[in-house]
Amino acid sequence: MRFKPRPLKKDVSFECKFCLDCCKERFIYLTLYDIRRISENGHDVEEFITLTSSEGKIRFVLSYREWDLGCIFQDPETGKCKIHEYKPLICQIYPFMVSHKPLGVEGEEPLEYGGEKLWIYYDENCPGVGEGDRIIRREEIAELGLKFKRELDMTDMDRFNEMLDGDKSGTSL
Ligand code: SF4
Ligand code: SF4
Repeated sequence: MRFKPRPLKKDVSFECKFCLDCCKERFIYLTLYDIRRISENGHDVEEFITLTSSEGKIRFVLSYREWDLGCIFQDPETGKCKIHEYKPLICQIYPFMVSHKPLGVEGEEPLEYGGEKLWIYYDENCPGVGEGDRIIRREEIAELGLKFKRELDMTDMDRFNEMLDGDKSGTSL
């Protein structure tokens, strides 16, 4: 499902409806932090990583099923995430998005957070936004967005190989 951005101008409630839509046909970029957490929970890297390239950089993305392009960790019947407790940062941010520049969407305005200007959006296609009792604060989303960017900037093939070598020799990063 394509992300349809709308500016998030205030804190909002959110409750997932498990509509089966959002964990398909999307590139889920993984950071080394994500890869380590998932592999520490018993998954082989070969099982869940696919390599791709973006803007001249190698990127690690979550593997997907051939038959419906769904994430391999999504239960295709219930829509639930099988690795919810340690799902990737980008999945923790969804149905929101943090951008370091405006996307050109009507009504957008920056949030100053952590010494940076950030633009925060929600996915208009997600039926869980505005539902339930759990309030999501914009600062919470911004914090996760900054963490994702920090971790993604440190994710490359050399560090990935170092991580694997460290695991084989019993040491870790
Ligand atoms: S689109 Fe929204 S409601 Fe549907 S499964 Fe994804 S997060 Fe949940
Ligand atoms: S890891 Fe979980 S939340 Fe993320 S895309 Fe896969 S099933 Fe969805």
